[in-house]
Amino acid sequence: MRFGEMAWDWLEPEPGKFNFAEFDYAMALCKKHGLKVLLGIPTSQVPPWFHRKFPESQPVAQDGTLYPEFGPRPNICKDNVHYRKLAERLAKKMVSRYKNHPALHSWQLDNEPVYPPLDHTTMNDFCHCEHSRLAFVAWAKNKYGSIKKVNEIWGTKFWTNHLSSWEDIRTPKAGFWEAVSPHTFLDWFRFKTDSIKSWIENLAAIVRKIDKKHPVGTNGFIGICTRVPDHSLIPKNLDWYGLDVYPRGGKMDERQLAFTLDLWRSFTRGTRAEFHITEMQGGQNVRWGFPGYVEGPEIKEWTELAFKYGARALLYHNWRPPLFGAETGGFGILTAAGRPTRRLEVIRKLSRNLRSTFHVPRSKIAIAYLRGSEIEAYQEQGPPRPMAGQWETARGDIGIMYSLLSMSGAYKAVYKKGQPIDFVFERDLNSGQLPYRVILMPNPYLLSLKQYENLKKWIKAGGTLITEARFGVKDEHGHLYPNPLMEDLFGVTYEYTVLKPEGFFDGVATFRSPKSGGLKTAPAIKTKQFITRKIGKGKARYANFSLFLEMHNGNKKWLELVRGHSK
Ligand SMILES: [Zn+2]
Repeated sequence: MRFGEMAWDWLEPEPGKFNFAEFDYAMALCKKHGLKVLLGIPTSQVPPWFHRKFPESQPVAQDGTLYPEFGPRPNICKDNVHYRKLAERLAKKMVSRYKNHPALHSWQLDNEPVYPPLDHTTMNDFCHCEHSRLAFVAWAKNKYGSIKKVNEIWGTKFWTNHLSSWEDIRTPKAGFWEAVSPHTFLDWFRFKTDSIKSWIENLAAIVRKIDKKHPVGTNGFIGICTRVPDHSLIPKNLDWYGLDVYPRGGKMDERQLAFTLDLWRSFTRGTRAEFHITEMQGGQNVRWGFPGYVEGPEIKEWTELAFKYGARALLYHNWRPPLFGAETGGFGILTAAGRPTRRLEVIRKLSRNLRSTFHVPRSKIAIAYLRGSEIEAYQEQGPPRPMAGQWETARGDIGIMYSLLSMSGAYKAVYKKGQPIDFVFERDLNSGQLPYRVILMPNPYLLSLKQYENLKKWIKAGGTLITEARFGVKDEHGHLYPNPLMEDLFGVTYEYTVLKPEGFFDGVATFRSPKSGGLKTAPAIKTKQFITRKIGKGKARYANFSLFLEMHNGNKKWLELVRGHSK
């Protein structure tokens, strides 16, 4: 069983007055029936009295729009100091009360921790409240040490943005696509991940201090870079990190579900956290997803796939459809009347047969997911601009969806039914831990020198890198390299990148091009090229165009080529 994650108003109906009667009853019932509980500490939403008590606590968008006090999620900013104080108090009370309860299985610290908004209905960016600004300043202080360094990294000399003191720092309100410094923008998103991470780790420490026995963790979902933290950084010090996944709601086929599972398992790889499925779709979707009905047999496929791809625990969402609220009638593995369904039958059978622990061997091939490049591509190319009849847009693909769609293109080439593939992240390039034979690297726009040196070392030792346009054009702060890293790695000279309807195109020349007559001339290559270079015992392969996006969009020629080179 899992409950509690959004019940702050139940447990603390008035400020400072606690009432655990209903939870005591529920826990006792679970004990009686031999059920173990993943107990949610309700920190994800604040009750209405919180906003009455602390009137200026609504999250603020870049344009000053206030997020509603109640209704949508999350209705509070994680940087709000009143919130942190009261949520910590609640956590201490709850953990002290149930830490020795025989029905307790583990703790959930938050629920899908993000900054609002949760969905795609607005492109507003949160949170620009004063609490967030102060937290952002503290983050910058901690990271750079001096305002001089901040000025250097954020390139503030450009357009009169020089900061004379820490007090001059504001959150980047111009935000998306407009003229805010891209370097500040990158740091803004890094700050948001770090802020969520520190909040979760702070809660984990509070729980562990009182209860050393039960595992702690939280859940999340895969989404666009402006909605979710960098998941590769969150689970490091958690005991479990759970994925919420709705295959029917997201109209996923088996490959797309495998992609999602591979990604989440990879987030937990090398950390102490187990990969869990905290919410697996257990019934029909509501409002926010494809509304197709879930019959039952598909649940068997999703569940078996999840375990095959490394999940160590799985919960269905949810037991019975809610009779009221924003998800009325959705998801239950029972009917609203509490009658068993075919879904329940399927799950019963599954639970009898799924006794073994699955071990996922490390794949030989990995796909890189570079968060900095993803955010930079989005900031430079802009938010989706709506076109009639559909939510995706022509240019939106090259902006906000560019990394995710390119990764999906790469996945297409190496996907084999039932064979998990690892993802690697900036953290892995930083550490140099790359135990793979082949790495496919979509959107390789931002690379630090350290990441590049580690990658090169790995190629020299026998690795094969397959990558594409804009390789190492910018450093980790989004500053342009005068000589992009592709020049060194692939032996090309670089002059420019243009954006075409099908993706990016690099104007480059090869060293040996007879027309170029050497290193310093203008690009000679006007067509799409796939350049291979032997380096030590390995190979580096570079497409001077958006290879992986074209593969995602159905280009069979490139798909076959990459498939061949990935063997
Ligand atoms: Zn805020």
